Amino acid sequence: MQTASRIFVISGPSGSGKSTLLKRLFAEYPDTFGFSISHTTRKPRPGESNGKDYHFVAKERMEAEIAAGKFIESATFSGNMYGTSIKAVEDVVESGKVCMLDIDMQGVKLVKQTQLNPRYIFVRPPSLEVLEQRLRGRGTETEEAVKARLEASKREWEYGETPGAYDRVVVNDDLETAYNALKDAIFVA
Ligand code: ADP
Ligand code: 5GP
Repeated sequence: MQTASRIFVISGPSGSGKSTLLKRLFAEYPDTFGFSISHTTRKPRPGESNGKDYHFVAKERMEAEIAAGKFIESATFSGNMYGTSIKAVEDVVESGKVCMLDIDMQGVKLVKQTQLNPRYIFVRPPSLEVLEQRLRGRGTETEEAVKARLEASKREWEYGETPGAYDRVVVNDDLETAYNALKDAIFVA
C-alpha cells in the first residue's frame, strides 16, 4: 500500500487521542512508519521513556540547541517547551520509513513555513465535554495543566476547523472508526 506522503503531521487538542491512534499505527505497521521523537522540557509521565516518547531535556539545553539551529520548529505549550529537531525527522526519513510528527498548532504553523511539505491531519474529540473527561481520565495532569490544556484546545479546535488548515479531519469518537479514518487519510489505494 502507498501512503499519500512521506511525512505526516498529526495535530489536535491535548487528549484528543493522537498518541493512542499513532501507537496503534506503529504496532500494526512497524516497518512502514517511524515517529519523529520530539524534545520537551516537561517531566515524563509514568510509562514514558526517554528517547522513545520524547527526548526529555532541561530548558537551558533545549534553548541552546534551538539557538544553534538544530530545530525545525519549537513552541511553548501549557508551560513547557516542545520542539522537532532536524535529526528527529532525518533519522526516520533515512530509515526509509514514513515519518509521523505529533505537534501542536503553533508547530503546524511553523512547519508550514518550511520545505518539509507534509500532509496535515487534525484529530479532534467529538465534543469539548468528552475531551475534558478523557483528559481527566488519563490522570496525567495537575488541575492547573488540565485547565491550560482545555483553554488551548479551544484555539486548536478553531484552527482545525479553518478551511485549508488541514488536509483531513479525523473525529475520534469511537476509536475503531477513528483509526480507520486515520488510515484512510494516510494510505492511497
Ligand atoms: P493525546 O495524545 O491527543 O493527548 P491520548 O492518546 O493520550 O491523547 O488520549 C487521551 C485519553 O483518552 C487516553 O487516556 C486514551 O486512552 C483515551 N482515549 C483515546 N481515544 C479514545 C476513544 N476513542 N474513546 C475513549 N477513550 C479514548
Ligand atoms: P503532551 O505533553 O500531551 O505530550 O503534548 C502536549 C502538546 O505538545 C500536544 O499538542 C503535542 O502534539 C505537542 N507537541 C509534542 N511534541 C511537539 C513538538 O515537537 N513541537 C510542537 N510544536 N508541539 C509538540
